[in-house]
Amino acid sequence: MATDPELADELVATVREWVRKDVIPVASEYEHADRYPEPMVEQMKAFGLFGSRIPEEYGGLELDVLTYARLMEELSYGWMSLAGVLNTHTIAANLIERFGTDEQRKTHLPRMATGEVRAAFSLSEPDAGSDTQAIRCKAAPDGDEYILDGTKMWVTNGERAGLVALAAKTPEGITCFIVEKDPGPSFGGISVSKTIPKLGYKGIETVEMTYAGHRVPRSTVLGGEAGLGKGRHFILGSLELGRINIAARAVGVARAAFDAAMKYSHERETFGVPINKHQAIQFKLADMATKLEASKLLVRSAAEKFERGERADVEAGMAKLFCSETAFELATESMRIHGGYGYTQEFPVERYYRDAPLMIIGEGTNEIQRIVIARGLLARWAAEHPS
Ligand SMILES: Cc1cc2nc3c(=O)[nH]c(=O)nc-3n(C[C@H](O)[C@H](O)[C@H](O)COP(=O)(O)OP(=O)(O)OC[C@H]3O[C@@H](n4cnc5c(N)ncnc54)[C@H](O)[C@@H]3O)c2cc1C
Repeated sequence: MATDPELADELVATVREWVRKDVIPVASEYEHADRYPEPMVEQMKAFGLFGSRIPEEYGGLELDVLTYARLMEELSYGWMSLAGVLNTHTIAANLIERFGTDEQRKTHLPRMATGEVRAAFSLSEPDAGSDTQAIRCKAAPDGDEYILDGTKMWVTNGERAGLVALAAKTPEGITCFIVEKDPGPSFGGISVSKTIPKLGYKGIETVEMTYAGHRVPRSTVLGGEAGLGKGRHFILGSLELGRINIAARAVGVARAAFDAAMKYSHERETFGVPINKHQAIQFKLADMATKLEASKLLVRSAAEKFERGERADVEAGMAKLFCSETAFELATESMRIHGGYGYTQEFPVERYYRDAPLMIIGEGTNEIQRIVIARGLLARWAAEHPS
């Protein structure tokens, strides 16, 4: 259901104001120190953002996808990592809401809505990223339990998570498990085997996690017995939401890079005039603004399609592809407009330049997005033009 437009505008304005006042002034400091943004996460809890997509009956805000995307944009305008705290959590909540049993929804969603339990989403492995079929993490049935063994890579929020939506192989195929754990470096047979140092996207952890004989009850299979072997199907559906999140994040970073360029182009003078009087800079600003506007419209189009309950793989793929390439381009152009100062830590543009590439890689690389888009387009064409 569409969110009341007034409520949506009010929420977006509140978050925007908070980002301006409490995030932007400290974001680079946190980022350079690679420090977890604890106070900001607490505020995001207070805003209800951990439950932004969770139905009201489970204590969430039940926002439509467009409002959710606008909020992710605002957070990323200040610091992209903040939207990363919420993304895998929201994907996990979406998986449980759409494909979980009644019992699973009642057990997990209320605690996820408040942020009391924070979730991670764990599909990738050291040797399985784009090729999701190649995962090796095993869930062996043993009476009323499954025994988990394997190594998972790139688990964002993995250490602090109290719940992991985990993809593992059962005899039926890829199955999704809702694995509960205590936040921290180890729990039962689960351990954080490595914290991955990153170019950007700092402050929140991305880790390697090892499962060594960790036992979970059968009731943790997402969707119950009917969910066995359906994990890939479930995950691909929820990744559409993840891709809209990434696209919205990219718009936030692109907007920040553009605003920084605009501001600097008024302040910096060369040859006796502000640099925005030079046509070369004006053309850059024009191209940047045009691509930024197109990015916003693509996010809107994907969000609206997803909201209508229609398959949105093509639109989410297009938004993710275009917005992330735009964010990287705008971060680079903004850095060039800043001249030598853009290459220093004096201005946040260096952070945008390091954060932007993640959106090109995460949630399926842009090469994979092109495959998804082309496949979807060809399938639609075939359906509309039966021979
Ligand atoms: C900071 C960060 C956080 C992440 N967080 C999470 C998370 O929370 N949970 C999670 O499950 N995953 C997460 N990921 C993993 C991410 O989704 C993968 O890195 C991504 O899907 C790419 O997989 P890969 O790294 O194995 O690259 P590969 O699949 O090895 O790809 C390498 C290159 O080959 C290209 N390529 C691969 N196959 C094809 C093909 N068929 N045609 C054309 N080109 C191809 C790719 O586009 C890429 O350029 C995260 C990654 C990063 C960097």
